[in-house]
Amino acid sequence: QPELWSDDFNDFICKCLIKDFELRPNVLDLLQHVFIKQIVGRERILQKQLIELIDLNQQIGIIEKTRHERIHTKKGSQMKSQSDPDEVDDLATLEVLDENTVTEQLQSRYGRDQIYTYVGDILIAVNPFHKMEIYTPQHTKVYIGAKRTANPPHIFAVADIVMLYLHYTTLIALTSCVQCVVISGESGAGKTESAHLLVQQLTVLGKANNRTLQEKILLVNNLVEAFGNACTVINDNSSRFGKYLEMKFTCGGTVVGAQISEYLLEKSRVIHQAVGERNFHIFYYIYAGLADRKKLAHYKLSDSKTPKYLWNEHIKLGPDIVSNTFYKEQFDAVEQCFKVIGFTLELGSVYSTLAAILNSGDIEFSPVASEHQTDKSNISNISVLENVASLLRIRSDEFQEALTSHCVVARGETIVRPNTVEKAAEVRDAMSKALYGRLFSWIVNRINTLLRPDNHLGEGEKGLNIGILDIFGFENFKKNSFEQLCINIANEQIQFYFNQHIFAWEQDEYLNEEVDARMIEYEDNRPLLDLFLQKPMGMLSLLDEESRFPQGTDQTLVEKFEDNLKTKSFWRPKRVDLGFGIHHYAGKVIYNAAGFLAKNRDTLPADITLLLRSSENELIRKLVTNPLTKTGNLAHTKGKGINTMRSPRTPTRTITFSGEHGDTPYHPRETTNMRTQTVSSYFRYSLMDLLSKMVAGQPHFVRCIKPNNDRHANKFDREKVLVQLRYTGVLETAKIRRQGYSHRILFANFIKRYYFLTFHAHEEPAVTPETCAAILEKAKLENWAMGKTKVFLKYYHIEHLNLMVQQA
Ligand code: ATP
Ligand code: MG
Repeated sequence: QPELWSDDFNDFICKCLIKDFELRPNVLDLLQHVFIKQIVGRERILQKQLIELIDLNQQIGIIEKTRHERIHTKKGSQMKSQSDPDEVDDLATLEVLDENTVTEQLQSRYGRDQIYTYVGDILIAVNPFHKMEIYTPQHTKVYIGAKRTANPPHIFAVADIVMLYLHYTTLIALTSCVQCVVISGESGAGKTESAHLLVQQLTVLGKANNRTLQEKILLVNNLVEAFGNACTVINDNSSRFGKYLEMKFTCGGTVVGAQISEYLLEKSRVIHQAVGERNFHIFYYIYAGLADRKKLAHYKLSDSKTPKYLWNEHIKLGPDIVSNTFYKEQFDAVEQCFKVIGFTLELGSVYSTLAAILNSGDIEFSPVASEHQTDKSNISNISVLENVASLLRIRSDEFQEALTSHCVVARGETIVRPNTVEKAAEVRDAMSKALYGRLFSWIVNRINTLLRPDNHLGEGEKGLNIGILDIFGFENFKKNSFEQLCINIANEQIQFYFNQHIFAWEQDEYLNEEVDARMIEYEDNRPLLDLFLQKPMGMLSLLDEESRFPQGTDQTLVEKFEDNLKTKSFWRPKRVDLGFGIHHYAGKVIYNAAGFLAKNRDTLPADITLLLRSSENELIRKLVTNPLTKTGNLAHTKGKGINTMRSPRTPTRTITFSGEHGDTPYHPRETTNMRTQTVSSYFRYSLMDLLSKMVAGQPHFVRCIKPNNDRHANKFDREKVLVQLRYTGVLETAKIRRQGYSHRILFANFIKRYYFLTFHAHEEPAVTPETCAAILEKAKLENWAMGKTKVFLKYYHIEHLNLMVQQA
C-alpha cells in the first residue's frame, strides 16, 4: 500500500483518473472525501478505499493510457494537427502584442474554424455563423479534466475550469461557493449560443445521474427564450431580456437544480415592432401551432386575418405564419418543454392569455361624434372585445368601460371620465404589455419552483452554485429608443464590472502589497455610468423627475438632459428632433426620445387591474393580484447594502454605484399612481441585484465577437473585429494577463489549499511566505511574486496547481 500522497500514491490516483471516464467521477468524489476526512485524520481508511477502487479499475482491465495520450486520441490529434505553427491558442503568450498581431491571429484562426482563443484565463469566441462539429459527445469527453493546453481553446474547457474551481476552491471553503460566468458581446455575437453550450457541458460534468433533471435544465433555456427572444434586424434570435441562470450542485458536484433571474423584458415589443423586426417568438409559434391543431377558433383567432400585433408591413406575414412548419415544430417543442419541466394544468391558461393578448391588439376605437363630447371613444368592433373578455374570463361590459373611461377621485368623490380614442388605445396596449410581462415572470417563477434544489440537498447543506449571465447585447439601430438605452446601460455596467476585475482591483493590490508590476492603462467607463446612474443629476434620475411632472413631455425631457448633462459623452445632434447622442464604451449611439416618458411611466390603469382581479381564470388573477417580484430578493433590499458591493477577492474593494442611499425599495406596481415605480428606477434596482449576485461569485469571462454584420460564415471583417477588440480592451487584457497576477491568495489560504503537494498530510507548516515559496518551488513554478500577505500567481499557475491537486 503506497503512503498517502506519496509519489506512488499520486501515480495510482492519476492512472485511475485517466483510465476511465465512467469511473472518474467516483474517484473524484472519493478524493474530495479524502480532503474532508483528511482534516479529521481518517486518511488510512480512505486510502484503503482508494486502493480498492484502483484494484477494481485494474480488474476491469482498462488499457492504461497517460492523460497526454488520451488527449491525443484520433480526434484530439486531428484537431491539433490543423493548427498553424505561428498561431497561438493564448493571445497572452504572443511575442508581439499589438492590435494588428492580435487581429491577424484571430483572423487566421477563424479561417481554420478555430473560433475560440484564450487571453489568459478569458475565452474569446468569434461567431462562426454556421454549424460546427466541435460540440459532439467526443468533444465533451475530450475536454473533461484535461489540461487546458492539451486541447484547442473551447467553451467546454471553460465549463471544466469553472467546475474545477467549484470542486477545489469551494471544497475547502476558501473562497465563495459561487462561480459566475459572464458572457458578453454585442447583439448577435453569440452569447446565448455560448450559454447553451456551457449549460450542456456543465450538466454532463454535474454527473448526469438524474437524466430527467439534466433534460429539464437544458430545456429551461429553450422555454424562456421562446418567450423572451425575438427576431431583430441584427439577430434572428435576439434576447430581449437579461438572464442569469444559476445551476445548483451538491458539495459532491452533482447538479441538483437551477434557478433563473430575468431582467427587464422588452415588453414594448408586444405592441409594436420596429421596421423589419418581429414580436416575441412564442406568438408565431402558438399561432401556427394552434392552426395546425385546428384550435384557432377555440382561441378566437382566425387563419386568414393576422393579428395586428404580429402584423408588420415590411414582412409578409398573415397566412405565412399559419403554414410555417418551423413555427409549428417550435410550438410542439415548447409544449414538450412545458410538460417535461412540469407545467401541466396551467398550459390552457397560458395559451388563453397569449391569445387574449393577440386579440386585444385588434380592438379598435372610434370617436363618439357629438357636439359636446369629442373626447369620448367607443369600441368599433365589439365582437373582438367580447372575444378578449371571454379568453380572460372577465365581464365584457366592464372591460368596455375600463377601456373607454377611467375613474378619478377628486375631493372624496369618484368621477368617471371618458377616454379619448388615443387614450383608450394606450390602455389596451398597457394591458397587453402588462399581461405579457407578468406571464413571463410567472413562467420563470414557476420554473424556479419546479427546479428548486432543496429536495436534493442534505440538511444544512447550502450547495454550490454556478451562475451564467447572458444579457441582451449592445445595440445600435438606425432608430434607438428607451429600450436600447436600458440595454446599453446594462452592457456599460457589465463592462465596468469586467474592468474592475481585470484591471482596477488587480492593480490596486500590487500597490497595497508592494508587488513590482507594470501598470496597464485601460479605458475606464465609470464617468459614463455616472452620467446614467448618478443621483440626482444622472440621466435616469432626470428621466424619473420628468416622468413625475404632469406637464412633462419628451421635448422637455431632452431639454432637461441638455441643460444638466455637461459632458463630452452627451450631445444634441443638429437636425434630429428629440435626438440626443451618447458616446458609449462600445461606440456612439443616437437616441430618439420620442415615447421615453410614456415608456418610463408604464402605467397600468387601476380599472384594468381591478377588472383582471375579478377574472374567473386563476392564472389571470394570479398575474394581477400577486405581482411577482421579478428579481427575487431585490424587493426587500435597502439603501446602502445594495449600492455598495464587495469584491470577493479583495475585501477592501467595492463597486460603488452612482445611486445614493435611501431609495425606496421595489414594490410591484399596481395602481395608476404616478409615484409608483418607474421602469428606469426598477431597472436601476435590477442592475444592482444582478451585480450583487455577480460580485458574490468568482467570475470567469467569455467575450463573444461578431466577425461581420451580414451574419455570413467565413467572413472576417477586420475593421469590425478591431473595433470590438478595442472597446472590450482585449489588447490591454492580454498585456495584464501576461505581466500581471490574476490570482492573489492569502498565505494561510494558499497553504491550507496546497500544502499536501509538498508536505505530509499530518504536518502543519508555518503560515509564512517561505512555506508558500516551498510549495511553489516543489511544483516547479516560476514567475510568481510574494506580497506582504498574499501569494501572487498567474492564471496558469493556478491551473497547474489545481491539476496537481486533482492528480494528487
Ligand atoms: P443578442 O444580444 O441579440 O441576444 P447573442 O449574442 O445572444 O445576441 P446569439 O443569439 O447567441 O447572439 O447568436 C446569434 C446567431 O449566431 C445564432 O442564432 C447562431 O446562428 C449563430 N451562432 C452563434 N454562436 C454560434 C456557434 N458557436 N456555432 C454556430 N452558430 C453560432
Ligand atoms: Mg442572446
